[in-house]
Amino acid sequence: MEIYRNACPRNCFASCSMLSYVNNGEIIKVSGDPKHGFNQGRLCAKGYAFTQYVYNPYRLKYPIMQSPRGSGNWKRITWDKAYSIIIDKILELNVRYGSNLACGYNKFSGNLGLLHYAVEGMFNSFGPHTKPVGNPCLISGEQAIKSSFGQTVSLMPEKMVDANLIVIWGANPAVTNVHQMKFIFKARQKGAKLVVIDPIFTQTAAKADIYIQVNPGTDGLLAHAIAKILIDSSLYDQEFIDNQTTNWIEYRQYVSTEVNITEVSQETGVSIEGINELAHLYSLSKPCATWIGFGIQRNKNGRENISAINTLAALAGTLQKGKGGVYYAHNGLEDFPANLLNHQGPKHSNINTSREININKFAEEAIKLSEPPLKFLWIASRNPLSQDHDFKKWELLFHELELIVTVDLFMTRTAELSDIVLPATTHFEDPDLIISYWHQWLSYNEQAIPAYFESKSDLQIARDLTKKLNECSPNFSNFPHELEPIDWIEREITPSIKELYSLKSYKQLLDGPHLRNEEKHSEGSSSMNFHFVIPNKIASSSEASTNVIEDQDSNPFKLITPQSLLRIHSQYGTLSWLSSEKDEAIVELSEYAAEKYWISEGEKVEVYNQNGRIAATAKINRYLPKKVILVNQVGKNPINQVIVHEENSNIGKSSANFYDSSVNIRKWRD
Ligand code: SF4
Repeated sequence: MEIYRNACPRNCFASCSMLSYVNNGEIIKVSGDPKHGFNQGRLCAKGYAFTQYVYNPYRLKYPIMQSPRGSGNWKRITWDKAYSIIIDKILELNVRYGSNLACGYNKFSGNLGLLHYAVEGMFNSFGPHTKPVGNPCLISGEQAIKSSFGQTVSLMPEKMVDANLIVIWGANPAVTNVHQMKFIFKARQKGAKLVVIDPIFTQTAAKADIYIQVNPGTDGLLAHAIAKILIDSSLYDQEFIDNQTTNWIEYRQYVSTEVNITEVSQETGVSIEGINELAHLYSLSKPCATWIGFGIQRNKNGRENISAINTLAALAGTLQKGKGGVYYAHNGLEDFPANLLNHQGPKHSNINTSREININKFAEEAIKLSEPPLKFLWIASRNPLSQDHDFKKWELLFHELELIVTVDLFMTRTAELSDIVLPATTHFEDPDLIISYWHQWLSYNEQAIPAYFESKSDLQIARDLTKKLNECSPNFSNFPHELEPIDWIEREITPSIKELYSLKSYKQLLDGPHLRNEEKHSEGSSSMNFHFVIPNKIASSSEASTNVIEDQDSNPFKLITPQSLLRIHSQYGTLSWLSSEKDEAIVELSEYAAEKYWISEGEKVEVYNQNGRIAATAKINRYLPKKVILVNQVGKNPINQVIVHEENSNIGKSSANFYDSSVNIRKWRD
């Protein structure tokens, strides 16, 4: 038996390193890599189920094409045929419009491997084209962190064990970041208190010493109220304020005149005693780890919420170097050259740059494009018709497109509506480098088995397609198709990366992941400067609702749509090992809602609004706020079809406001 070192490329905090055990070219099991300092020899259930993922009966084996689109009349085609159709379309559009702006892609985080930026590199190699910009998840928070700290900061998650107080705002690691829980449990064994602030009584909240239920979108108000108590009681770190902050006088004036504890209590739903208790804990328990979850930025108050929590962490003197501070996200990619992502394409005679579309409004903005319109779309590492919103606009966009190509491992909803579907490899079938947006470990992903049937990696597809494209039209693409995956990997391991990760060569990563040895950020250090951000008015939860629905009474429930334990969006739905989580949606509703609409436990119901409806099975959750509906991101009938788009002109500069939608519920009507 051979053992290979792999790394999970899923969009997950952990980016686990794993060992795959291969017999006669087939993976027979996977286990966690004990040399990885974050996952420490363990995987989550999804990770242990990877053998079922690789050899899944539903996995795509060959390129396929359907005609007409959406008919389900699929036929197997050769790769040459697929390339030929794609190349003909690219070249024809280039002649028709005089540029490649009619060609675009939509790709995001389905695979976090550095070599998967081959999609971006391939399109760059065509010259100016149409591309998505922004980030559905983290941008609002990143902006807020940079406004407060002047740079991206996030402590090493392993350091949470040293905290005496852990305050988790809007994150549920017991489900979405299971490996972090061991560091939390270790801290608690040493006496730390765990506080969870969340509208939902989550699995993490159930483990907490104190659970604070806050109305959705009002975390910032709560943080400013705690800050006011700390300031009024002189329970703040005066030395830090005097020496390492700016805008303090203005902020103190703001909380003095604008923050009213009684009003905050009403808006947030947190009692005055609860607010005082939080202030008491923040003032006494040092060091304090403040974890700012991604959930609290999924509404229009996202940036203000995170700024306010940053402020609270600074004010309470919790930024002691290496022990307390803010945990948000670590942008490991910033260290790397990311050569595929940043590949420079050829210049166009009169078009300077590619056309950019906000990824959070992709379909809506793509439909409006003219001169030229978007006509060819390549979709990779993404299933927008499950995880995005505004599905009706996606359908309109698809109607306008002349060719849609999707690269995936399974027949997703998006693939079903494409013209050509190309089969993708898993991470066991290609080498790659994996970093994390949470911890600071760099892992090498070895090729453990040959590619499954005719599947290919994004990089191999880019190499093959650009080579053939140039055979048809010399110098159309400047993609260096002759470079092997290992060449790209070697080019990422620059002298500065070698120094940062204590590496002589990427080959050392074959013996185990390496930890980033220099914390570039200076959070908590004597050189750090913290800026107190004065917020724009933070909308109350009811204001947030009325901004996105036309008739408040017809959609009285705020919709929260978190990830679940055994899925990441639509992924893993075909794995029988994970089948305890059914594909049909479960809608959790409060006792208030159940009584008002005469809904019983287990009854078939529909969740609906002006965008559409989904069928679901009712589950009554007595801990849920009265006017919240909770549906997890699972199933073939995705809840995101009822997500209402929030106007946002800030291109690429804010996260998607998934939690600003409101819905109604009723018994199912056939
Ligand atoms: S999904 Fe996350 S926790 Fe599970 S194996 Fe992959 S990286 Fe690890």
